[in-house]
Amino acid sequence: MTTTTDVRRSLPAVDALLAHPALQQAQSRHGKRLIRRAVRQTLDKERACLARDAGNSRLPTAAPETAMTIDALAEKSLARLSQLARPHGRAVFNLTGTVIHTNLGRSTLAETAIEAMTQAARHPMALEYDLESGGRGDRDRLVEELLCELTGAEAATVVNNNAGAVLLALGALGAGREAVISRGELIEIGGAFRMPDIMQAAGCRLHEVGATNRTHARDFEAAMNEATGLIVKAHTSNYAITGFTKSVPEPVLAEIAHDHDVPFMVDLGSGALTDLAAFGLPYEAQPRDAIAAGADVVTFSGDKLLGGPQAGIIVGKRELVANIKRHPLKRALRLDKLTLTALEATLRLYRDSDTPQREIPTLALLTRSEASIAETGERLLAATQALLDGMEVTLEPCMSQLGSGSLPVDRLPSRALVWRPLSENRRARAPLLKRLEGAFRQLPRPVIGRLRDGALHLDLRCLAGAEEEAAFIDQLAILKECFAREGG
Ligand SMILES: *Cc1c(COP(=O)(O)O)cnc(C)c1O
Repeated sequence: MTTTTDVRRSLPAVDALLAHPALQQAQSRHGKRLIRRAVRQTLDKERACLARDAGNSRLPTAAPETAMTIDALAEKSLARLSQLARPHGRAVFNLTGTVIHTNLGRSTLAETAIEAMTQAARHPMALEYDLESGGRGDRDRLVEELLCELTGAEAATVVNNNAGAVLLALGALGAGREAVISRGELIEIGGAFRMPDIMQAAGCRLHEVGATNRTHARDFEAAMNEATGLIVKAHTSNYAITGFTKSVPEPVLAEIAHDHDVPFMVDLGSGALTDLAAFGLPYEAQPRDAIAAGADVVTFSGDKLLGGPQAGIIVGKRELVANIKRHPLKRALRLDKLTLTALEATLRLYRDSDTPQREIPTLALLTRSEASIAETGERLLAATQALLDGMEVTLEPCMSQLGSGSLPVDRLPSRALVWRPLSENRRARAPLLKRLEGAFRQLPRPVIGRLRDGALHLDLRCLAGAEEEAAFIDQLAILKECFAREGG
């Protein structure tokens, strides 16, 4: 063996590696182009490694024997292939303790909604087609009647999300005029939704009244003028102002607005479609309450407490909703057929099912009993004991959050599987914990938990049902491998 040749030459050509039986076999599952890409990337990486080693090493032996065998290269290519073929949008386990987690896609859907979506994806459907008359229809028809029944409103329309609903409603009802709102409700929701900015984008002038903690009816009265376009109330969904506080009740705001011939709009944020208190959950305002209190337009999300797909729902007075529908932004923000069918199916459960709290996953998870979570915990504890060297696993009480700004200060008692490094050495613990958290994220179906107080907490509230439990347990062997690999 010569040690003076360029080691990079010792790598096989792309085509030679592609001819390897393992890669030929992969053609039954992957396209040729993707396999070629994986092979090329593997060789590029290997070439770079060899060049770096040769450059760094003062030893003349950085040599062909350090180059990999073709079998090893094929194996690396296969590993890269499965990485390249893995979709970005894949399922994870949400064990963060936040049930409606925006970064993890918020609500998962009811089976009937999934079924409806699949049908809509597979077949043409009467989306904007009136099957009675054979003429053109309106896509809002799929859900409008249901929404009116469920909220007591006269009319309804739907858009891409609640941020869009607020933008659209403000634009249609208040552009060029003033939107009057309490200083205590100039909310910011995560991801750059800020009420003052949305108002500006909608072409409204913000007219803030009162103080952060206290706003009175007389503040609103004093603010009304020729340029007033509407009064807005925003649900303070992701914070609570407590202590010496005062806000103006909805019926009073409605009266002030109507005395001055302007609409009263309520952004509810989450908006539960059923009385959550009946299931032992904290009370959350319903669109029905706001309508009954005199609101002319109410907006709320489809994928928060409602438990449906991402959507923004607008319900209210017929004439105002008609104005909103005519606004050009409505077309820009309209819902697609998949979302609409999923939303319809979810709304039907609220109207027609005796047990929506069991069929709508978000509600099922929120109302899951502590005893049921504890049982899951005991089984998982048994399955994870002594699984990883140097890690202790315990089952501990914890508190889940609803999430997505729903009921910000309320917590639900739950159980967490808590992983703690056993090492006596404090400084050795943090990297071990990071390694574990990383290993959970590397799994085929990544497990997302929360690092807190020197431990990884996996809140088991959202690990519900025998299938989910089995899927979690099935991955434990791989976890062990990932953990070892991350350490190596
Ligand atoms: C969540 C929320 C929004 C934004 O709704 P998206 O559906 O996330 O667009 C707007 N206003 C309030 C009060 C909210 O809680």
